[in-house]
Amino acid sequence: MTYSDFAILMRSTKEQEQDESPRHAAFTRALERRDIRYSLEAGGSPFDRPQVGVLRDTFELLRYSPLNRDRVRKFFNDSILPAYPKADFNSLVSTLTRWVRDIHSPRGGARQRIYPQEILFEILDAFRIRESSFPYDVMRDIGLFSRMIQDIETVYMSVDDSQRFANILNFLKTPAKTGYNISTDDIIRKPNAVTVSTVHQVKGLEFPVVFIVDVEAVRFPGKRKSYGGWLPEAVIKKALGRGAYQGNPIEEARLFYTAMTRAERYLHVSGAQLLPLGKKDRKPSRFANRLLQDEITNDEISSDPSRIPEGLVPCPQKQKIDETVLPTSFSEIRYYLRCPMDYRFRKGYGFTPAIPAMFGFGDTVHTIIQKLHTGFPEEIPTLEDIESTARSAFHLKHVPRSGDPTSRPGPWEEAEDKAVEVAQKYVEEYQKDFQRMRQVEARFEIPARDCVISGSIDLLLKQDSEGNTLEAEVIDFKAMQGGDDPVENEELEWTELALQVQLYAKAAADILGENARTGSVHLLKDNIRQEVPISEEAVAAAIKNVEWAVRGIIEGDYPMRPHPGKCKKCDFKVLCPRIPQPFMIIQDIPPEIHLPDGKMHALAFSEFKEDESEQRD
Ligand code: SF4
Repeated sequence: MTYSDFAILMRSTKEQEQDESPRHAAFTRALERRDIRYSLEAGGSPFDRPQVGVLRDTFELLRYSPLNRDRVRKFFNDSILPAYPKADFNSLVSTLTRWVRDIHSPRGGARQRIYPQEILFEILDAFRIRESSFPYDVMRDIGLFSRMIQDIETVYMSVDDSQRFANILNFLKTPAKTGYNISTDDIIRKPNAVTVSTVHQVKGLEFPVVFIVDVEAVRFPGKRKSYGGWLPEAVIKKALGRGAYQGNPIEEARLFYTAMTRAERYLHVSGAQLLPLGKKDRKPSRFANRLLQDEITNDEISSDPSRIPEGLVPCPQKQKIDETVLPTSFSEIRYYLRCPMDYRFRKGYGFTPAIPAMFGFGDTVHTIIQKLHTGFPEEIPTLEDIESTARSAFHLKHVPRSGDPTSRPGPWEEAEDKAVEVAQKYVEEYQKDFQRMRQVEARFEIPARDCVISGSIDLLLKQDSEGNTLEAEVIDFKAMQGGDDPVENEELEWTELALQVQLYAKAAADILGENARTGSVHLLKDNIRQEVPISEEAVAAAIKNVEWAVRGIIEGDYPMRPHPGKCKKCDFKVLCPRIPQPFMIIQDIPPEIHLPDGKMHALAFSEFKEDESEQRD
C-alpha cells in the first residue's frame, strides 16, 4: 500500500480545540513529524485559497464603469501581489479597462459577446501565472474556478450586457461558493498522500484503510442542534422533519455509517481520552461502544489497537488508480500525444479554454450531412431538399440569433447560410455516394491495453440488393479548412487526423467483421476528401500510440514538450512556463504514425524543441 491508500476521517476538521488549534492539527502535525505527506480536504470553499479568492474579487472590479484606477491600485498592492507575486499592474489595468468598456458598452451600440473564460485567461496572464511555479493544489483550485466559469458559459448562451455580467458575479458569490467540492478532481492518480478529511468531503470515495478519529461522546455523534436559520420554521417544517439544517441522532448515525463504509479493507475507530487542555477524561462515543457489543462483534473486530490483521503478506507498493476516470475517447488522449502538459492543464487541473464563437459549427454541419444520407438513401436530394434539411437541422449553441434576421442578419444567420452552401457543395461533388452507398454512424469500443476507447464513426457502405455489405469506407468529417493542398497545410495536425481515422478503421473491422477498404478525412469547407493509410501496420502503430499515452497518463508523467509553433496555438499558452522537460517515467517512444505522405512521431516528439531560449514566439 502507499500513502494514498489511507484516509483519516473526522466529524469536523476545522472546529477548534480548547487550545484554539483546529481539530485536524493533532493528526496533521503527527504526520508531519513522521515526514508523511498528506492532503487536507478541510472542507470550506475553494475561494478560501487566496489565489482563487483574488480572482473572483478581480472579476468584481469589472462590475461598474468606469474602472476606478485607485481602487485597482490598492487592491493590487493589498491582495493581488501577496497571492500572485509576479503580477504586472499595467498589464492588469489595460486588460480590465478593455473588458469594462466591452461589458458596459451602451445598449443599441455595436455589441459583442463577452467570454468570461477569455477574461479569466487574460487576468491570469496579467497575474503572470506562468512565471509563478504554483504547486499542484493551487493550480487545481484555479482550474476549478475556470470550471465554474465554464458552467456559466453553458448556462448563458450569450453574455452581452452588463446585467448578464452582474448575474455572473452574483453567481460567483453564492452557489459557486458552496456548490463545489474541492476534493473531487478528475485526476487519475491522486497525489501519493494520506487524505485527512471530514466525512462529508469523502462521500462517494473509498480507501483501503480508513481511520475514523475523534470519536468521543458529544463529538461523534455531535450535539443535537436545533434549527437556527433565517427562514421561519413553519415554512420549512417538512425539511426540518427530514433532519435537514439541524443535527439529530438519525443524521449523525447516517454520517457514521458513511464514514465506516469508506473503508475497503481495514477500519480503525478511535477517540482521545484527554483532549488538548482538557481537565477530565472524555466519555467514549456510543457509536464506538456499539461496535463492541455482542450482537455485532466477531473475530474481525477487536478493541486491541496493537492487533495486526491476520494473513497479511508483503508485496511491492503500487499506487491505486481510479479506473472510473481513465481516458476513453481519442479526443482526450490526443492532448497527451500533443503535449502531456496540455492534458494536465485540461484533465488534471480542470482548466477549460474559452469557447470559440463558432464552437459547434463542425458538429452541426456533420449532422446535416448525416440527415441527408439517411433522408435520401437512394436518390440525390435536390437543392431545395438540401436547403430545407440544412436549415431545420442547423444549430449553434453559443451564438444568439439576430433579432431581425431578414434586414440585419448576424453571425448565426451567416453561419447557417454557410452550412447550406457546404451541404449543397457536398451533395454536388459526391452524388455517387447517394446512389450506391449508405451512410451509417456506428458506435464502437476498442479494447486496448489498460483502456477501452469508445466513440462513433461514419461509415459509407456499399451493399448488394440483399443488404449485404460489399465494401466500406471510413470517413471522418471535419469542418476545418484544408486549403489548396491539405497534406502540406501546416495548420492541419495530420498526426492527429490520421491516427483518428486509423482507430476508426480498426473499429470498422470489429463492427463489420471485415476491413474497411479506405479511410479518409473529409474537409467539408473545401469539400476535399483526403485518403489516409489504414494498412494493418498503420492501425497497429495507431493503437500503440494510444496505449503509450494511456500508460503515461496512468503513471502521471506530464512533461512540458514545447515548440514555438505548437505553443502558439495551445489553449494554455498564457498559463504555461514552456520549459522543455524529458519524460521521467515512461522511457520508450511510441512508433511513428502513418500519414498520407509519410510517417511522423506524435507531436510530443516531432514538435519539441529542447532549447529553452527558442520557446517564445
Ligand atoms: S504551451 Fe506548449 S509546453 Fe505548454 S502545454 Fe501548451 S504545448 Fe505544452
